[in-house]
Amino acid sequence: MAEGGLRPETLAAHALGRVDEATGAIIPAIHPSTTYERDADLGYSRGRCYSRADNPTYDAAADTLTALEGGARTLLFASGMAAATAVFQALRPGDHVLVPKVMYWALRAWLLDSATRWGMVVEPVETTDLTAVRAALQPGRTRLVWVESPANPLWSVTDIAAVAELAHAAGARLVVDSTIATPVHTRPLALGADIVMHSATKYLNGHSDVVAGTLTAAREDEFWARIKAVQVQIGGVIGPFEAWLLQRGLRTLFARVRWQSASAQALAERLSGHAKVVHVLYPGLPGFPGHEVARRQMSGGFGGMLSVRVAGGEEAAIAVAARLGLWKRATSLGGVESLVEHRASIEGPTSPVPRDLLRLSVGLEATEDLYDDLAQALG
Ligand SMILES: *Cc1c(COP(=O)(O)O)cnc(C)c1O
Repeated sequence: MAEGGLRPETLAAHALGRVDEATGAIIPAIHPSTTYERDADLGYSRGRCYSRADNPTYDAAADTLTALEGGARTLLFASGMAAATAVFQALRPGDHVLVPKVMYWALRAWLLDSATRWGMVVEPVETTDLTAVRAALQPGRTRLVWVESPANPLWSVTDIAAVAELAHAAGARLVVDSTIATPVHTRPLALGADIVMHSATKYLNGHSDVVAGTLTAAREDEFWARIKAVQVQIGGVIGPFEAWLLQRGLRTLFARVRWQSASAQALAERLSGHAKVVHVLYPGLPGFPGHEVARRQMSGGFGGMLSVRVAGGEEAAIAVAARLGLWKRATSLGGVESLVEHRASIEGPTSPVPRDLLRLSVGLEATEDLYDDLAQALG
């Protein structure tokens, strides 16, 4: 394996470049087997016993992501939610956790509903405000700080290095949902995070045809062993076919995400001047509140996601989405096709998202075509 000294673009393009010893194949095989042969003495000298715990098809995607994030080990899960909830399920009843006030809404709903029911003390805090994080941390009781940056769907940016320092000083771990930034733009472990999580359903796979999640650890400690135990016991594992598609998607990660970020930046700038747009939310805009932090912790772009607040309120926003032709009205993000969504109506009455907001996931189409469609829909 030629990992030494190679740049992330190269590592991703080759998915580490391992050639199959038995066949010479340069693309890894898919191993559908659920079970593995025992030795005569009942041991497993080849290292695997059952696919709820492990499967060789996982290796290419998991090890590539480990290299891209600069971590020690990656686990692949059945979804981003399976990955995220495994982290919280590795804690104990009574443990206090800090989570963002604005975050991926299904995880927020699970935390406030199920995790709380099992005795976890979940405290939403404005993680972009370091004073608020410092005040909310309870040394010895707070076990985990969860951060999402940029955070769905307002794209607020949290200073990962600063929160890591605060969390560690209080004896808590920091986990970062880096789904939007991807390892192309941000490496949370290098900034001090203990674990980085991705919904691999989004940019890592990138083609809207796999549901998957990942966790990458800075080090294989006791907490990581607990997370692995939760995964093996509960069974939120990825299938071999999905793992194979994920390694294929990862190979084009840099080309896709750089294009998407450049396109999103251009669209954000042009839409900022549009008469029917009240406000553009995008970390790459100099006037955006988190822009300075984003410049420090994101390199090579600010991601492919932006939101616009439409003049005329909720009805006008929904009407704009209805008039779009090229942008597909659909949930999810990070695929090659551009998507639009009115988040407030998806998230329901408890959503903190403004009613006039449309979330835009920028795909790989020509930026001009995407802008023209938005311009005709805005009128
Ligand atoms: C989609 C998403 C998730 C959840 O991932 P699934 O793969 O849908 O389970 C978590 N965090 C963010 C930021 C997401 O966009």
